[in-house]
Amino acid sequence: MNRVFNFSAGPSMLPLPVLEKAASELVCYGDSGMSVMEMSHRSPVYEEIIADAEAKLRKLMNIPDNYKVLFMQGGASTQFACVPLNLMNGSGKADYIVSGQFSKKAYEEATKYGDVRVVASSKDKNFTYIPQITKDDIRPDADYVHICFNNTIYGTKFNYIPDTGDIPLVADLSSCIISEPIDVTKFGVIYAGAQKNMAPAGLTIVIVREDLLGNARPTTPVMLNWKTIADNDSMYNTPPCYCIYMAKLVYEWILDMGGLDAMKAHNVKKAAVLYDYLDSQNYYIAPVEKEYRSMMNVTFVTGDADLDKKFAKEADAVGIKNIKGHRSVGGMRASIYNAMPIEGVEALVKFMQEFAANNPKA
Ligand SMILES: *Cc1c(COP(=O)(O)O)cnc(C)c1O
Repeated sequence: MNRVFNFSAGPSMLPLPVLEKAASELVCYGDSGMSVMEMSHRSPVYEEIIADAEAKLRKLMNIPDNYKVLFMQGGASTQFACVPLNLMNGSGKADYIVSGQFSKKAYEEATKYGDVRVVASSKDKNFTYIPQITKDDIRPDADYVHICFNNTIYGTKFNYIPDTGDIPLVADLSSCIISEPIDVTKFGVIYAGAQKNMAPAGLTIVIVREDLLGNARPTTPVMLNWKTIADNDSMYNTPPCYCIYMAKLVYEWILDMGGLDAMKAHNVKKAAVLYDYLDSQNYYIAPVEKEYRSMMNVTFVTGDADLDKKFAKEADAVGIKNIKGHRSVGGMRASIYNAMPIEGVEALVKFMQEFAANNPKA
């Protein structure tokens, strides 16, 4: 076995112990005589798996009883439509903070359904910071406020939770969920595609406060109505069974290491290896303003597109994979989600030092 350090932004690395556990159960789960992939989602053995997955996520994130946990499909991008369909039911107004590409996409999708406004944007500085907003910036009759908490492409993260008063705050947590503790009660809705930090692609997690359910627009497709999914314990139709099982194993892996406090300590240490190096030299440039740096996605450039290209190519050859930045940004991006071991970041820094020494700038 020769596993590489995979810095992909998503789908991304899964913890090795989780993959090994899944492999050991792949062909025959417990004494069921079959793979989890082959089970009826209505069988008692599978019902136990999904219930356990939910219970473990609740424990991990300390999700209060008045929030529902939904296992959906369609990725975070489908939630860009679910959010207005389920929540834009009062004034028909919604306020969005645009801090990167995904929040822009979420905003654009929402504009199909009502009076949607950009409260603040960081486009003026190529999304290298997070706009600071206060309650006064929000329309008092908005049905909700939407943010993207960690901007996967640009490598920024909110360093505060906006105070929206009584207006529900909706957050896309796709690329930072379960990387550190977060106060769920500050949000009306949290959603996340699973393929960054939780499970294989195909599963989307929605955590929604109960009082926000039941007012979807009448034309909402039944599969996009959070209440349908909630009322049916995520089993209105066939859920992404195997992904949910994998998510459960990932939750167990984190709980076993001590929960999200332990996970955070590990992630802080890991990110510091890379950021401390970036701050100690002047070959690479890290464009993000320090207080908004993401702990999960670290962006940097050499300032020379040809050198960036060479970097990604040579890194690939030594087992540092998928380090190329998003096509809209260029440069490099190291996605160092939960499953990335500290050895991966250390190997990256060592390679960066060698590359800088071997490729002096003109
Ligand atoms: C990856 C990502 C998305 C898109 O997720 P899909 O599951 O592919 O739809 C949306 N938001 C954020 C923050 C992401 O990182």
